[in-house]
Amino acid sequence: MKITVIGSGYVGLVSGACFADVGNNVLCLDVDERKINMLNNGEIPIHEPGLEGMVVRNAEAGRLKFSTSYDVAVEHAEVIFLAVGTPPDEDGSADLQYILAAARSIGQRITKPVVVVDKSTVPVGTADKVRAAIGEEVAKRGVNVSFSVVSNPEFLKEGAALDDFMKPDRIVVGGDDAGALKLMRQLYAPFSRNHEKFVAMDVRSAELTKYAANAMLATRISFMNELANLAELLGADIESVRLGIGMDPRIGSQFLYPGMGYGGSCFPKDVKALVKTAADNDQTLHILTATELVNENQKNVLFNKLVRFYGGVENLRGKTIGLWGLSFKPNTDDMREAPSLVLIRNLFAAGASVRAYDPVASKEALRVLTLEHGAEKLQASLEIVGKAGDAVQGADVLVLVTEWKEFRTPDFNDLAQVLRDKAVFDGRNIYDPEVVATAGLRYEGIGRIGKA
Ligand code: NAD
Repeated sequence: MKITVIGSGYVGLVSGACFADVGNNVLCLDVDERKINMLNNGEIPIHEPGLEGMVVRNAEAGRLKFSTSYDVAVEHAEVIFLAVGTPPDEDGSADLQYILAAARSIGQRITKPVVVVDKSTVPVGTADKVRAAIGEEVAKRGVNVSFSVVSNPEFLKEGAALDDFMKPDRIVVGGDDAGALKLMRQLYAPFSRNHEKFVAMDVRSAELTKYAANAMLATRISFMNELANLAELLGADIESVRLGIGMDPRIGSQFLYPGMGYGGSCFPKDVKALVKTAADNDQTLHILTATELVNENQKNVLFNKLVRFYGGVENLRGKTIGLWGLSFKPNTDDMREAPSLVLIRNLFAAGASVRAYDPVASKEALRVLTLEHGAEKLQASLEIVGKAGDAVQGADVLVLVTEWKEFRTPDFNDLAQVLRDKAVFDGRNIYDPEVVATAGLRYEGIGRIGKA
């Protein structure tokens, strides 16, 4: 099939590459010339495991092309995916300006029937707005051309996006046009060969399904974070509790990990947007409001532990904190809403400096942190280094922020030699408190019994 994907970010580029990989003829469009130039030179603007090989392979085979031209992109396609960003607006609602701009650009150009697919995460009712935006532009031109709009929310996880796209748990498509649904079924057939995964529904239900999924996952995290904080007060270990409840198949073991609060480009904004959608319909989503509040607090938990460890925030002044991990989760360079940003903000405000290492997010972190703090402040208070070992050299304590594989089994005896104040703060509970303590280091995790 001839497919255009509008928006070549984490979702658009992965979707485009995967559709091309099963034999479709795909054109990826973006308004960001830098991104398209990079892609045309065989460079990948984001870090996603396996993506580079897939993009290069399909580009070389002529099945995957990149362009900034809407004329070329709309002319190319029988199916057009919208995969542009939907960032939070000031009031928490999803900002639809990019989606609607893309829709208008399509309406200004279509000359033959096309199926337009909302893949971006968009509030209930957006497909109607997209349909109206395209329709208005078509009407302005006085042409007669048919088009359909369907909703096909994306459930991939950054860091495992290719696998998730190639082997999805489910493919949700909302639409009321039988022809468009049939075409979507054909398009997704290669990803659904052994088990039927295609779930067809009405458009509004499909749009809500995506928010429901992210809201449920975010709530599980906040629930565990809140229980972790309680466990600590009660002298219990949340890691034992996690195992104990996760074995119940009604609960399941996934997404029960306490930590420094959820971040990333999806959970924070999608929870906010759903709360706002409900408020616009005179409903308060009490559980999700609490989910968000707990998450905001949780992002400060490790900093508060550092303050306690040093006996007051004033004693953090002049300290050097070694950080392992900056991205919001492993296997991605995405820094959007990363808990590390809150920790660094708190540390700077307390007069501490930071030596940080991340396997892939350093460049993106530096860009984001420079925007927030300015180059001068960073020059004085932050050093991003090229090796995990360098982040702890000259540091007073170590804080594990992101659970990249390479941080899993450090030599704690070596750490005890270099860390001046002999303490490890484990923001992801990946270390065994006994092992850390045996090396002569104080251990602080999330919801665990601290070990001296
Ligand atoms: P992103 O910011 O990485 O990519 C969006 C791209 O759209 C950017 O490259 C931007 O330049 C481009 N763009 C903006 N306006 C455009 C226009 N008018 N025409 C063409 N291109 C335009 O965003 P993302 O993380 O890929 O997310 C895209 C959507 O998918 C969001 O709605 C998000 O909520 C949803 N989603 C994201 C994930 C994820 O893990 N990142 C997972 C599922 C769903």
